[in-house]
Amino acid sequence: MARTPLIAGNWKMHKTQEQAEEYVQALLPRVSAVDGVDIAICVPFTDLQPMVDSTRGSPVEVFAQNMHHAPEGAFTGEISSPMLIELDVRGVVLGHSERRALFGETDRALALKVPAALAAGLVPILCVGETEEERDNDETDRKLRQQINDDLAGVPDDELASVVIAYEPIWAIGTGRVATDEQAQEAIAFIRALVAGRDSRAAESVRILYGGSVKPENASELLALEDVDGALVGGASLEAESFAQIVAATPTTL
Ligand code: PEP
Repeated sequence: MARTPLIAGNWKMHKTQEQAEEYVQALLPRVSAVDGVDIAICVPFTDLQPMVDSTRGSPVEVFAQNMHHAPEGAFTGEISSPMLIELDVRGVVLGHSERRALFGETDRALALKVPAALAAGLVPILCVGETEEERDNDETDRKLRQQINDDLAGVPDDELASVVIAYEPIWAIGTGRVATDEQAQEAIAFIRALVAGRDSRAAESVRILYGGSVKPENASELLALEDVDGALVGGASLEAESFAQIVAATPTTL
């Protein structure tokens, strides 16, 4: 089963509208000829509309970094899926470890958010991954199983393939410590096997990304791994040149 790789840049809380515009004008010419790789930038809420406008007709899609599960309601400070859809946003990052650790995002909340995103027509990128302590205690599989089971509990089997899963070992995020090829391949194959436990056909087509200190220097090796279908890139996505280099390092199925 050929899976189209996805390279998604997570800007986190970086870039004003002016900085975002400067970035995208530098990125577009660098990726205009790319074929066979999906490209997304996951931008702060205030950058969504200008980035959707500036990338229209280009290979770059615009994703949000969070959303509430409800379509509307008394949830001060939150944003809903109809609000994202109205802007032509294509997808949304859900359950990033920074949201889990710093903002109390729970698996219960994610069990509502992932199906809500799918129902709205958004592509969810669900982030999962273990802490360093969990890896040291041989608890990586348990953690991944629990997150995949809980967070995808509300997704029907025939929609599992529409979710993008990002395996992001927390100890590798923003630290410069990238997972070894063996660690990344093993964890991602394990996640695929968990999906296969629900639906074997979905497991063949679901895209599973690696995230954690991906850089132009290590991208081609990681992206060539059998079960790795792309990358979620933080720090190295903040410069158009390094993000474009990671896109260029992605093996395509064409
Ligand atoms: C991320 O924010 O999801 C991430 C993987 O960050 P970095 O690439 O900087 O480790």
